[in-house]
Amino acid sequence: MIQPDDTDRRTPVAIDLDRENGLMRIAWADEHACLYSLPDLRRRCPCAGCSGEGSRAGLVNADTVFTHQQVTLEDVRPLNRFGLQFIWGDGHDDGLYSYAFLRDLCPGG
Ligand SMILES: [Zn+2]
Repeated sequence: MIQPDDTDRRTPVAIDLDRENGLMRIAWADEHACLYSLPDLRRRCPCAGCSGEGSRAGLVNADTVFTHQQVTLEDVRPLNRFGLQFIWGDGHDDGLYSYAFLRDLCPGG
């Protein structure tokens, strides 16, 4: 699905955080734009603790109820060309969301 020469186009050119409404908008280099819900992003946290590792189930699933802090995004840190690190209000910062992963999560494609 991801072609080697497609990599640069899957890089964000703008990231807008709307904390009040719990939304994050990413505009990509290929002019595609995605509007993410912060609770959805937290639910999809790719770290081993949340999503599990090997045969061990993660702490987070479709039924997990989050606190307000857990779905408040304190900070977003770019990880070079790889993706983004999200720092959540409860201090959780293990989730490294690659650009390819974020692009796959894009609501509406
Ligand atoms: Zn996590």
